Amino acid sequence: MAHRVTLIPGDGVGPEVSEAARRVLDATGVGIEWEVVEAGEGVMAEYGTPMPAHVLESIRRNRVAIKGPITTPLGTGIRSVNVALRKELDLYALVRPCKSYPGVRSHYRDVDLVLVRENTEDLYAGIEFEEGTEVCRGVIDFLNRAQDRPIRPDSAISIRPISRFGTERVVRFAFDYARRNHRRKVTSVHKANILKFGDGLWLDISRRVARDYPEIEFEDRIVDNMCMQLVQKPELYDVLVLPNLFGDIVSDLTAGLVGGLGLAPGANIGTDCALFEATHGSAPKYAGMNKTNPMAMMLSGVLMLRHLGEAVAADRLEAAVAQVIESGQAVTYDMKPDRDDPTAVGTSQVADAVIERLERMPIRD
Ligand code: NAD
Repeated sequence: MAHRVTLIPGDGVGPEVSEAARRVLDATGVGIEWEVVEAGEGVMAEYGTPMPAHVLESIRRNRVAIKGPITTPLGTGIRSVNVALRKELDLYALVRPCKSYPGVRSHYRDVDLVLVRENTEDLYAGIEFEEGTEVCRGVIDFLNRAQDRPIRPDSAISIRPISRFGTERVVRFAFDYARRNHRRKVTSVHKANILKFGDGLWLDISRRVARDYPEIEFEDRIVDNMCMQLVQKPELYDVLVLPNLFGDIVSDLTAGLVGGLGLAPGANIGTDCALFEATHGSAPKYAGMNKTNPMAMMLSGVLMLRHLGEAVAADRLEAAVAQVIESGQAVTYDMKPDRDDPTAVGTSQVADAVIERLERMPIRD
């Protein structure tokens, strides 16, 4: 029976990388019935919102979705559709694997990390008060009465909730992931030395949850030290679990270890639904140019196939992408030693090359 999957092409380079991913997923032979729905800037005029209700309904109905990146305009007050989708669907864990593929230009070989980012709380809760507004002045007055470190009246305020519930479920998710995927260690990343209560709670819960998984090694790292350690000796780490903002920043760092954003996939997982998307954004300056690397979207598709229980097809697609990377020929500009290399191919040509590899690959059970 075909899997029904919601496809959100996104904007900027989203439609191009999504189409490339859709073509290679279809070429695996797994029956996928695509339900294409649009979200983002392009639908604002028609629906008055970048995230129309029917988009959420489609994902809730199909329970599995894959999306291209969506632009969040700066300085407009419009909030991120990506963040809103994660919150609305309670996609509480964002899994971002970072793995070295032979042939990738990088200072590192053999990196094989999985970053699990809490996806609904922290500074991404979107609880902010604009400088100079009455409500912001009220919040500042309240806080100045509640504690003895005065906040300047011309401040903006951003709230960073970290809950017991939200932390426990994502840390448990990281340990369950480690157990299911035969991983040896989970590292909980935090800033508990400064954020005594928020990250103090995160660390305390991480330690408690770790006790339920005695076969998996546990350690914690302060986030700044974590960044240095990842650059110096990434091979020491395995599964990392982080609060939302640190997870956002550190996952770009780990993407850099394995060849950049063009190769970094992601899976947003909730209790009821899963939404697969690349780590990179909509790279608007390359929109419509058939230039950017679709491999991060394709590898997000590999994660989706695994989620759908299509492990053989997932392995074949990953192997086909890996072969194209290793050959070094049908790859986009970002994977060439020189960004202006005239032999770099376009987004759709990468899809052609991956499909060609898939077609030549024997099917094994
Ligand atoms: P970005 O990831 O879009 O691009 C940064 C740079 O990385 C690009 O200019 C390009 O040089 C490179 N790059 C990114 N993806 C690439 C690819 N597939 N192949 C080759 N090179 C690639 O980040 P940004 O410029 O900070 O953000 C642009 C927009 O995307 C913003 O509106 C942001 O809010 C949004 N965004 C969306 C998502 C999402 O949809 N989940 C994630 C991050 C950013």
